[in-house]
Amino acid sequence: METTRSRPEQSIRDIQHFGEEGGVVPVIDVAATSTFLDPADMERTFQGEMQGCYLYSRHSNPTVNFFGKKLAAMEGATAALGVASGMAAITCTIDQIFRSNGKVGGHLVSSNTVYGGTYALFKNILPTRGIAVDFVEATDLAAVEKAFRPETRVLYVETLSNPLLSAVDLRALSALCRKRKILLVVDNTFAPLIVRPLELGADVVVHSCTKFISGASDLIAGAIAGSEEFIASLIDVNHGSVMLNGPVMDPRVAHELYLRMDHLPIRMQAHARMADFLARRMAEMKLPVIYPGLESHRQHKLLKGTANPEYGFGGILTLDCGTSERARDLATKLQDDKFGLYAVSLGFSRTLMSCSAKSTSSEIPEDEQKAIGLSPGLLRFSIGYIGDAETMWNRFLKCWKAVSA
Ligand code: PLP
Repeated sequence: METTRSRPEQSIRDIQHFGEEGGVVPVIDVAATSTFLDPADMERTFQGEMQGCYLYSRHSNPTVNFFGKKLAAMEGATAALGVASGMAAITCTIDQIFRSNGKVGGHLVSSNTVYGGTYALFKNILPTRGIAVDFVEATDLAAVEKAFRPETRVLYVETLSNPLLSAVDLRALSALCRKRKILLVVDNTFAPLIVRPLELGADVVVHSCTKFISGASDLIAGAIAGSEEFIASLIDVNHGSVMLNGPVMDPRVAHELYLRMDHLPIRMQAHARMADFLARRMAEMKLPVIYPGLESHRQHKLLKGTANPEYGFGGILTLDCGTSERARDLATKLQDDKFGLYAVSLGFSRTLMSCSAKSTSSEIPEDEQKAIGLSPGLLRFSIGYIGDAETMWNRFLKCWKAVSA
């Protein structure tokens, strides 16, 4: 597989239509299928001999392509593809890589702290397709190297893990992978704009666009960014995992996301400002808070060396309330006091809270949760940017004091 996957800068002509029909935003092209004047052109397009023609929207769509180009520009990728969900991005990426050498099965090494849905996919579904999976502590380079086997094809990590917020050394991991021709796949859902994994040596980046990229918690979407060759392989009419499994992005969704990406930088800054403010106040009170922007965070220095300083350290923080009862009690009080909403997901304008152990990480068995340090009392906050910071802090403090009394 071609490994040139990052490029410095896209031309304005790659992401903008000019001329008489070139509105400042692309049109929503809802056509499911496209016309050909010459039937021979249709045949050549199906054979892959003719480029530039749209044939059917499960294969490609102009509006979805516009979104893909914008996402590729954000990730510094040569190409990107919008898909139906974050899980579709992960599933199709893994499926495509494992089938690309013509062999059945293989071995995947995953970080042991990943989103619960990803964990369940790797643990319960991949083995049924002949893919063996090992979960390792990905901040431990020796452990990762030890887990590699001759048949390992993929190392899978999250830039900032869900929900523990541990950050991996992408440069070092990519060097380990390169030595053995293993592909490094990175889920960058928690850190869009903050980290560009492809520039640090990753081969493929996946996103749940449902989160920060959407920002409104009103749609489900995903994206895959990487080399032009890899992205094209996903929509190959004979072998493409997106083309043939079919989880494509709807052009209306692509259009929404295209527009929202323009204010993603402002939103990411606002999330980080509020999260940093609250995390520091919690840390001053010696509460067990984890936020990558705090100097006390285990990989703060590492992240500082790779993160774009314009965007801070993200909008997610966690607080260990000790027990699940206390976490639930605090969350209920915070919701009643208009600090945030008790809901899974993240990246919304308002604060969202959930007890990870019993929700988005419930797929991970209790003993493994314990082994990775996921406490039953861990409350994950996706910090919103709506409201005044001092007011939000006072609401938090009142509720914290009430549960601590
Ligand atoms: N990756 C991460 C880190 C997530 O947190 C999630 C969902 O919470 C996903 C992937 C899956 O995304 P989606 O819900 O859009 O399928």
